[in-house]
Amino acid sequence: MPNTRSVIIVGGGSFGISAAIELRQRGWEVDVFDPGPIPYPLAATTDISKVLRMDYGADQDYMFLMEQAFEVWDSWNRAWREPLWHETGFVIMKHEEMQPGSFEFESYRLLKKRGHTVERLDSVELKRRFPAWNAELYNDGYFNPRAGWVESGRVLEWLYVEAQRLGVRFHIGKKFSRLLDTDSRVIGIQTDDGEKHHAEFVIVASGAWTPHLLPHLSDILWTVFQPVFHFQVPDMELFTPPNFVVWAADIANTGWYGFTAIQDNRFKIANHGSGWRFHPDEPRVMPADQEEKFRAFLRGTFPALADAPVLFNRLCPYCDSWDGNLWIDHDPDRPGLIVATGDSGHAFKFTPLLGKLIADALERKPNPFASKFAWRPRGKITTEDARFAGSQGEAAGR
Ligand SMILES: Cc1cc2nc3c(=O)[nH]c(=O)nc-3n(C[C@H](O)[C@H](O)[C@H](O)COP(=O)(O)OP(=O)(O)OC[C@H]3O[C@@H](n4cnc5c(N)ncnc54)[C@H](O)[C@@H]3O)c2cc1C
Repeated sequence: MPNTRSVIIVGGGSFGISAAIELRQRGWEVDVFDPGPIPYPLAATTDISKVLRMDYGADQDYMFLMEQAFEVWDSWNRAWREPLWHETGFVIMKHEEMQPGSFEFESYRLLKKRGHTVERLDSVELKRRFPAWNAELYNDGYFNPRAGWVESGRVLEWLYVEAQRLGVRFHIGKKFSRLLDTDSRVIGIQTDDGEKHHAEFVIVASGAWTPHLLPHLSDILWTVFQPVFHFQVPDMELFTPPNFVVWAADIANTGWYGFTAIQDNRFKIANHGSGWRFHPDEPRVMPADQEEKFRAFLRGTFPALADAPVLFNRLCPYCDSWDGNLWIDHDPDRPGLIVATGDSGHAFKFTPLLGKLIADALERKPNPFASKFAWRPRGKITTEDARFAGSQGEAAGR
């Protein structure tokens, strides 16, 4: 039988390593399994940047969670040799006037109610402060200074070092192939080389791979690939702070969002849409029409980038949950198994709190957010839920 207070974690992304660190600090023996290297090149966490924002429509839980996460991001920034979290602020614009019920309006209203400093922007103010925008297309929105972007891949590298320093054992190159169980509970995993590993609990935190490793979850969790492009900017001044900050362009209707340009004139832009569903180990081929789709958007919204050369593109996998909320709980039908995933394209920002959320779930300790991320039967998602659930504002249709 497995040792008590031992845990196996499947997956060394932001969920898995955050959990490993927290559980180790609570005195657990922790073994992490990952194909490696960490950061795993095909993983969602492995990227140059992710948005940190607390703008979540009318969803107070995510705003409260992010208010707390920002405190930790700030303290991590002070601890790092150089800052990896860049507080540029966030410009979130709409074509039309923000109306009650819209993602933007509800975010703005809740931010103000919580005492955050947000500045309403009309097209005149947008043009004056952020001149790269085509202000003729965007009439209403706001600027939230408490937001920005973080170098997610580099943060994961740091967490990996921290976890090793604390005594987490990593089994790189060993892939989960199946759960081991007795009649009454899960007691470990078998890896693809046939080895058996035992622990009191198994946490599967393998992001987009989770519903494929645990097919019984495929009705509530699934993999969706989303397109990301990097373009080369001709004019760094126009696309860097204070003239340009992390942004969203009528996102609830269009899915467009992106970042400031970085050192090598690299401008990252992504579209949060219906995406494509396939297995995360299949070849990732960007559909041929995507470059023109991105370019058409740039021509309209940031005309200076109309002819910008493409530097890179990538299909990045979300592990969507059916309602767009994270999924962190014991599997009610498989004692000993905890599932920690359901990022739905928006969870990296919560990395400083994921370990505590996952460890509290495992130890069945009360946590104010536990019920939101708890095991739940698949339900019908309303338009209202969909507007605010998940990703960068819009999960409808997925
Ligand atoms: C296009 C895109 C944009 C995003 N933008 C944002 C954003 O702006 N802000 C934000 O907060 N979040 C964003 N996210 C979401 C963020 O990337 C995720 O919340 C986060 O990275 C998920 O981490 P994870 O640990 O669940 O998964 P991953 O980082 O994918 O890690 C999964 C791990 O499981 C491992 N694994 C796979 N198979 C096995 C196996 N058989 N055995 C063992 N291990 C295995 C992999 O090697 C990998 O290391 C975005 C995601 C995408 C795709």
